[in-house]
Amino acid sequence: MSEINLVPSFSKSLFSGFILDELVFPFPLMNKDEEENVNMILDSIRKFCENYVDSAKFDKLEHFPEDVINGMKELGLFGLVIPEEYGGFGLSTTAYVRILEEVARYDGSMALIAGAHQSIGLKGLLMYGSEEQKKKYLPKLATGELLAAFCLTEPAAGSDAAGIKTRAVRDDKKGIYTINGNKMWITNGGIANFFTVFAKEELDIPGEGKKDKITAFMITRDMGIQSGKEEEKMGIHATSTTEIILDNVQVPVANVIGKPGKGFKIAMEILNTGRIGLAGGNVGGSKTALKYVLKHAKERHQFGRPLISFELIREKLAEMAMRIYIGESIVYLTTHLIDQGNIDFSLESAIGKALATEYLWINVNEAQQIAGGIGYSREYPYEQWVRDARINLIFEGTNEIMRIFIALSGIQERGEYLKKMGKALNDPIKGFGLLTDYAVHYMKERLTTERLPDVHPVLGQAKSAFEEWTKNLHITTERVLIKYGKKIIQKQIIQRRLADCAIDLYAMIAAISRTDHCIKTKSEAQCKRQILYCNTFCEQAWRRIRRNLLMIDKNNDDELLAIAEQVIEDGEYKI
Ligand SMILES: Cc1cc2nc3c(=O)[nH]c(=O)nc-3n(C[C@H](O)[C@H](O)[C@H](O)COP(=O)(O)OP(=O)(O)OC[C@H]3O[C@@H](n4cnc5c(N)ncnc54)[C@H](O)[C@@H]3O)c2cc1C
Repeated sequence: MSEINLVPSFSKSLFSGFILDELVFPFPLMNKDEEENVNMILDSIRKFCENYVDSAKFDKLEHFPEDVINGMKELGLFGLVIPEEYGGFGLSTTAYVRILEEVARYDGSMALIAGAHQSIGLKGLLMYGSEEQKKKYLPKLATGELLAAFCLTEPAAGSDAAGIKTRAVRDDKKGIYTINGNKMWITNGGIANFFTVFAKEELDIPGEGKKDKITAFMITRDMGIQSGKEEEKMGIHATSTTEIILDNVQVPVANVIGKPGKGFKIAMEILNTGRIGLAGGNVGGSKTALKYVLKHAKERHQFGRPLISFELIREKLAEMAMRIYIGESIVYLTTHLIDQGNIDFSLESAIGKALATEYLWINVNEAQQIAGGIGYSREYPYEQWVRDARINLIFEGTNEIMRIFIALSGIQERGEYLKKMGKALNDPIKGFGLLTDYAVHYMKERLTTERLPDVHPVLGQAKSAFEEWTKNLHITTERVLIKYGKKIIQKQIIQRRLADCAIDLYAMIAAISRTDHCIKTKSEAQCKRQILYCNTFCEQAWRRIRRNLLMIDKNNDDELLAIAEQVIEDGEYKI
């Protein structure tokens, strides 16, 4: 994987006012061969889950029975993304995520075990491993004989992953590294036997001298890795989450993934792709919650009427369904970008993660609310769904970190363009081409707006809103950059607002593209639901964007921060 020659990100470009429509139109569909293959796998997963998966029972047991794990192995659920030559199914990201979505409809913990194994646990080997390394480990990982875990987080290094303390010391004579340190919160920690571990080693960097850099290692349990006790968690009880202890663990130099010192980049790229699997699973969870609660709302009567006859219940059901449509659209647009192999999708997968996890969180809360008192009972699945859904907003990069990442990446893209302009102004002859380009774009952006290609007229308002609010995001980004310069890094509330605008814009385009494709390949009459979802969401989205952009200048951030300052000083609520 290399960043060189990557096609720019659709969402990053929005901050500069550019609409790279060829990346998002037409909406992608799975190719026929793969779809057939996936449908066969989905059929066997459904049969297996209906017969053997009892999510409430596993929640109480706090682990999966061995026969269920064995059944998952037999289904090939651990080898979905591993190429066929190494014994896997060799599925695309789109197909893989579709399967995770289905598994999550039955049980979130089950999707997580398979996801932690493939989306992050073995992904470093898959993306950066040598042929020799792949031949050695991938066949066993494909069958589930080896189960993988991803070990980055430490007691003092969570969101700030670069701050890890685990140390690797290389002994060239013996051809080994000795690794010491503790990892925390590791999914599959107690049951895995293949660990992707990140540790710091001292390297001699040309021109910089000796520096600590992160290196990625593949470590098997027989090398001496120990697991701590199982964490007692709020939800996803059936998954194993433990500390991982590395006490003088000796790892062959041949088990370095990629190059020494490149581990941080490897970790971030693994998470960039891994996040979209989580997003897909969350869409699956939302579908189950809606289907289940709909049945209840039809059967339960109050005031002599079924719950579904009340407007406030209908509003919740409608919003839940719309969130699923938007979640699906974002997830499958993004997996397509990932499958292209040469497109920068880092922002889109962060958007997918943040949005799909928040949608599931809202959806299971709404389902619980519609269920009323029984929603709070352990006899029904709602409370488990709420407990299980909560973690998604925290791991694989918290949603706050996602928003900071989205905003700063977008701003940086624009900032670099402006910096180039600054240089061009210092040397106008050399920079003439750039200046004319800028002048043309500047004039264009003031006089006109970047346009989307033609979409079906029934989506006309959504299209115009997307174009107009992209332009406004760009103008505001530029204004913010000029006003704050580098200080923008400290302005997290502004960053959050800009990120929320980018999230809404990407969600709008995903829905517009998907709905347009539906109409063009079927007919307007056959896509009535999609049109309704798309247009209703886009209307809500542009109003949120307008509010967020207005609040960049007119807000009470200073007052809020003053309250925070006061509370922090008081150490409690005081009046
Ligand atoms: C059940 C579970 C499973 C997990 N599985 C794995 C795994 O398999 N592998 C692995 O490596 N890790 C795993 N994790 C760890 C997980 O990724 C971290 O918990 C997560 O990254 C957050 O780190 P932290 O817990 O240290 O929180 P902190 O980093 O301390 O964050 C605490 C709060 O502060 C906010 N915050 C932090 N920095 C900033 C900032 N700069 N600006 C604004 N707000 C900020 C965060 O958003 C959060 O709300 C798992 C965690 C759990 C609970």
